[in-house]
Amino acid sequence: MEEDYLKLLDKAWENLPERIHTDERFEMPTADVVVAGNRTLIRNFGEIATKLNRKPEHIMKFLLKELATSGEIIGNKAEFQGKFTMWLINQKIELYARNYVICPECGKPDTTIIKEGRVHLLKCGACGARHPIKR
Ligand SMILES: [Zn+2]
Repeated sequence: MEEDYLKLLDKAWENLPERIHTDERFEMPTADVVVAGNRTLIRNFGEIATKLNRKPEHIMKFLLKELATSGEIIGNKAEFQGKFTMWLINQKIELYARNYVICPECGKPDTTIIKEGRVHLLKCGACGARHPIKR
């Protein structure tokens, strides 16, 4: 069922004119969040890291700081102490993406983090823009 839907989406995508194709906006990955007891799990953490093209450890460090808790990466999952809503977790991931992944100039995720002196810059492979990373 889901596969059929995805196929339909692919088909719709293929039929789009080229101009829209190149204006593609980044589709934010959605965290699959479950609360188990006094812990919160992101079940698809590995996929989120892959989609954001960043190291899971870097995203984890950011999330732990933002959520002011402790936790660890277990295989494809991330586990946090405490209960957090799916909404909050996804908001933090979006914040991460805005800070460390998405080019503020063109909105594309084809970026790398480079270091110039003591400053970290977000360098865009699509438009060439460089932006200092705020935090
Ligand atoms: Zn750009």
